[in-house]
Amino acid sequence: MSTVDRTPKPSFTKGLFLGQIQSELVMPFPLIEGDERVRVDAAVASAREYLASFDPWKAEEAGWVGDDVIRDLGERKLTGMFVDEKYGGLGLSQSGYCRVMEEFGYVDGTLAVVMGVHQSIGTKPLYLFGTDDQKARWLPDLAAGRKLAAFVLTEPNVGSDAYNLETWAERQSDGSWLLNGEKRWIGNGSKDVLTVFARSELGHVALIVEKGMDGLSTGPRFETLGLRANNLQRVHFNNVRVPAENLLGEPGDGFRIAMNTLNNGRMSMGTAISGGMKRFLEIAYDHVSTRRQFDRHLIDFEMVEEKLAWMAAQIYGLESSSYLTTGLVDAGVADFSLESAMTKVEASDRGWYALNRAFQLLGGEAFMNRHPLAKALRDFRIFPIFEGSNDVMRAYVALNGLKALSEDLPDVASIKLSDPGRAFGELAPYVSGRIGRALRPERLEGAHRAFSGRVSSVAGQVVRLRDAAEGALRTHGKKVQEKQLVQKRLAEAASGIYSQIATIARASAIFARDGEPISGAEKTVAMNYLKKTEREVGRELRGLEINDDKYVAQIGRSVRDRRGYPFEL
Ligand SMILES: Cc1cc2nc3c(=O)[nH]c(=O)nc-3n(C[C@H](O)[C@H](O)[C@H](O)COP(=O)(O)OP(=O)(O)OC[C@H]3O[C@@H](n4cnc5c(N)ncnc54)[C@H](O)[C@@H]3O)c2cc1C
Repeated sequence: MSTVDRTPKPSFTKGLFLGQIQSELVMPFPLIEGDERVRVDAAVASAREYLASFDPWKAEEAGWVGDDVIRDLGERKLTGMFVDEKYGGLGLSQSGYCRVMEEFGYVDGTLAVVMGVHQSIGTKPLYLFGTDDQKARWLPDLAAGRKLAAFVLTEPNVGSDAYNLETWAERQSDGSWLLNGEKRWIGNGSKDVLTVFARSELGHVALIVEKGMDGLSTGPRFETLGLRANNLQRVHFNNVRVPAENLLGEPGDGFRIAMNTLNNGRMSMGTAISGGMKRFLEIAYDHVSTRRQFDRHLIDFEMVEEKLAWMAAQIYGLESSSYLTTGLVDAGVADFSLESAMTKVEASDRGWYALNRAFQLLGGEAFMNRHPLAKALRDFRIFPIFEGSNDVMRAYVALNGLKALSEDLPDVASIKLSDPGRAFGELAPYVSGRIGRALRPERLEGAHRAFSGRVSSVAGQVVRLRDAAEGALRTHGKKVQEKQLVQKRLAEAASGIYSQIATIARASAIFARDGEPISGAEKTVAMNYLKKTEREVGRELRGLEINDDKYVAQIGRSVRDRRGYPFEL
């Protein structure tokens, strides 16, 4: 990786809502280079070598990926990819970790999720918030795969609204905690090291609970549509006494720890999905290049070819925004929560559409139960729902952007938008990174000349986003917090602009490093993605002015009144 500058920097996407393009945050694109490249290549090779013998069907039948698999991955340190070498991990950067997660996503959605639960959200709270003692105590076993970690947040009455937890932790006179409550849908819930989120009189807490503690029980496990080797558990706490030294951070930090972990963890879902999309494309290609109908190969029909091209362009765009975001983390940008949320939404939606296209191209073949796409269909459907449901993420992005803009407009600041963090996740408290109204050029600086037209287009889109966001604030005032259709369009527009910037940055970096390829193929795929996404952004922003929202609300009321379809034929 190029030199890492750890000084806190402001949020790139909040800047977009203010009409700013902070080129220095995204240019040059953070390619994995130097020593880090060597380490990442070695980890990718190790994962590939091992995964070649992994059997997803066997894991599914067994209902667990297999203790032997975890042991073998542990021996390769692939269960501790970002954990520091001193604790037995590989010490990879965020970009490096996410790059290896692509390999897991390519091979099997379930194994990718088990790895993600253990590392991205299970081990991450300790890694980010543990003291040296806590890290020394738990990280070596977790990195080596001798123990598995879980992230224990969701409850029967608490899903997206994670602030309102019911699990209760009572502080005891000796500083320990007495934990009571029930959690559900917990991956690795019956395993070893659980970061449990609860409320207490001192605010939210994050407690490390270990397998075997008195009062801790799990099960029965959930039977699920997909991800069947993921061992999804109910977890019960009946007067579980948790020692004082198992508290992460301070009392009151629990919600922040949960949200920061998710912000950080979402990125590997993005790259695991792009790994999956590459596999879908290959499966589709293999089929349409060999299957003949109407005296020719299916690939020779334009509507077939268009689906393959769409998938390739989407993967290109998604890779660009995913690795731009991981690069922000590696460069020490403190506030990457919006980029991480946008990448998660983009990956999970586009991954699903890509799977649908591949499925279509396979015809009836993919509908057969033992087909990998049939399994992927079951495994991938959860991605738009967990680790932050996509609509909740859209609201989060828009409200954070609007809040930044409202604070920046003296005459609008008085409407005081409430903190979207509490409703939708922790609002990044990066005061040092607050965006000022400094005049700055609104063009992306440093792009390759091949993209100068696109750079101008993006500049125009950013101005329109800012105008639209300002218009929303002035039209709706504080009520903009309830205007989710406005929020959705603003979030989609911001996300589209971000992914275009990422794509320009990525292709520019490749052209700068390797020269513009003579084949023109990479420029073509980048251009195709950029133009498609530009049109999508235009549609979203136009939709703020011209839409059917009033009908939507009326129909919604009719559905409520009739408790279903309201019309007779
Ligand atoms: C396979 C699987 C694995 C999981 N693993 C874990 C785990 O390891 N640890 C853990 O803690 N949890 C885990 N979960 C729980 C998961 O994170 C939750 O399912 C998720 O947070 C959504 O909560 P919910 O399902 O209760 O949906 P709800 O919160 O009830 O929401 C349902 C839908 O309502 C809509 N909605 C909700 N709120 C809003 C809003 N404010 N604005 C607009 N629309 C809204 C969205 O469309 C949303 O998808 C897992 C779940 C599954 C199914």
